[in-house]
Amino acid sequence: MKFNTRVIHEGQGVDPVTRAHISPIYQTTTYILPDYAAAVEANKPGDPGFHYSRTKHPSEYELSCKLAAMEHTEAAVSCASGLGAVSLASMNLLASGDHLIFGDVIYGCTHTLFTKILPKFGIEHTIVDMKDPEAVRRALRPNTKMVYIETPANPTLKCVDIQAIAQIAHERDGITVVTDNTFATPFSTNPALLGSDVVVHSLTKYLCGHGTVVAGVVCGTKEFIQSCRAPYLQTLGSTIDPFAAWLVMQGLKTFAVRMERHCENAMKIAAFLQEHPMVEKVYYPGLPAHPSHDVAKKQMRSFGAMMSADIRGGMDGAATLMDNVRIFGLATSLGTVDSLIQHSPVMSHAGMTPEARHAVEIYDNQVRISVGLEDADDLIEDLDQALGHIRL
Ligand SMILES: *Cc1c(COP(=O)(O)O)cnc(C)c1O
Repeated sequence: MKFNTRVIHEGQGVDPVTRAHISPIYQTTTYILPDYAAAVEANKPGDPGFHYSRTKHPSEYELSCKLAAMEHTEAAVSCASGLGAVSLASMNLLASGDHLIFGDVIYGCTHTLFTKILPKFGIEHTIVDMKDPEAVRRALRPNTKMVYIETPANPTLKCVDIQAIAQIAHERDGITVVTDNTFATPFSTNPALLGSDVVVHSLTKYLCGHGTVVAGVVCGTKEFIQSCRAPYLQTLGSTIDPFAAWLVMQGLKTFAVRMERHCENAMKIAAFLQEHPMVEKVYYPGLPAHPSHDVAKKQMRSFGAMMSADIRGGMDGAATLMDNVRIFGLATSLGTVDSLIQHSPVMSHAGMTPEARHAVEIYDNQVRISVGLEDADDLIEDLDQALGHIRL
């Protein structure tokens, strides 16, 4: 089956009791066992049944099967948030005394998890500019257990070569490559086909697409996902709830067509901003001027709909733009049908020090834009009038 068909049909069966077209929401905590013998079987690894909704429930399972098919992995497990998914994968893969390598531009809260939370459990890290995959090799230590990639990275859209990095990491035994594919989405890139062992997503963004849930997923081998469910998810408890899983499934039905329009609109907005006198620099991998354009062209089927821009007039210029847009919503989050704008330094990446931000091109006059599905001409007009309010 091709992509659109898989997105719509994979994992979805007809409800055995009612023959409902759309899968019901299984809003139940627990499942009645037929007899005591079933109770004895229930806790064995790989048991296909449903018993208690913290570990697995039908809404979660259907969604996870769909997402695994979209990412070309054997299995998946859906979580209460993208960060829940990143935490689940990290807890599973890392132990006290282990070492982790991650890219210098990543989502702000993931950065906080790796630099502030994991060190409390004795897990060391090295931050690497992965633009040069050889830098990953130089950072390897005997105790390195995980290499974490985010591409295109939030918020500067820096892209790194998943295949080259995975190849270097896999020259050693015992290193798992994890890729956050939230920005690219499976519409554009499948990290598992490029050698990434595990793929994580914030489903909150494009995969749900309507701004109605916070959710996440971990995709990987059957064996890895089984160990994510029990004992990790079973004890960490960051499970997606049935209604959220159901909402993501509704969003997924239009995912592929949404992405086509998202990307088409984004290219137009990026081209417009690049020419605007009040814009110093545009960060969009689809623009030949973006330093990551070549690697993006190599591994992405389309360039996505996220971008950042440095606005003239410093922080005041950026604030004037954000205060005067009428269609764009000033909000954190991204990947929704409606367009959003935010200030990365004080919003998504407020957890980093100004020095750390500036070192990776997250500047104080930078806005991040999530291009939605409105008519591109209206979005351009809106940005143009808002940029027109800037006084230098
Ligand atoms: C939003 C985001 C996350 C975190 O996802 P939540 O669903 O908000 O927990 C992780 N990675 C990236 C790249 C993101 O944009």
